[in-house]
Amino acid sequence: MEHKSVEAVPCSEVEWKAKLTPDQYRILREKGTEVAGTGKLLHNKETGMYVCAGCGAGLFSSDAKFDSGTGWPSFDKATENVGRRPDTRQGMVRTEVYCKKCGGHLGHVFDDGPTKTGKRYCVNSLALGFRKG
Ligand SMILES: [Zn+2]
Repeated sequence: MEHKSVEAVPCSEVEWKAKLTPDQYRILREKGTEVAGTGKLLHNKETGMYVCAGCGAGLFSSDAKFDSGTGWPSFDKATENVGRRPDTRQGMVRTEVYCKKCGGHLGHVFDDGPTKTGKRYCVNSLALGFRKG
């Protein structure tokens, strides 16, 4: 089957396992969380677009990135490819953010952002790729 999109989106968990590293699979497909402070994009200051590690969809502009001090890459706004849904796991009511294109879990969004948007998208670095430009 020919895919014209940027990257083909796997259609089964077997394909996802083949495409992603075990850590990426745990986060994107099983809603895991990476250890704070370990993400390789945490301190990335280059200009460009943060994309979904699962499918390549553009998720966050580098303009939206800020240092939240939490140990996870943080953004104050998202592109239209980022969806939101309630997450009541772990006895908390939070808002999960996910990639609308492939359904991959990214992290959570909170209403305590320090910038004028008031939003803090707290995202796993492993769920992201980076495209310069
Ligand atoms: Zn995706």
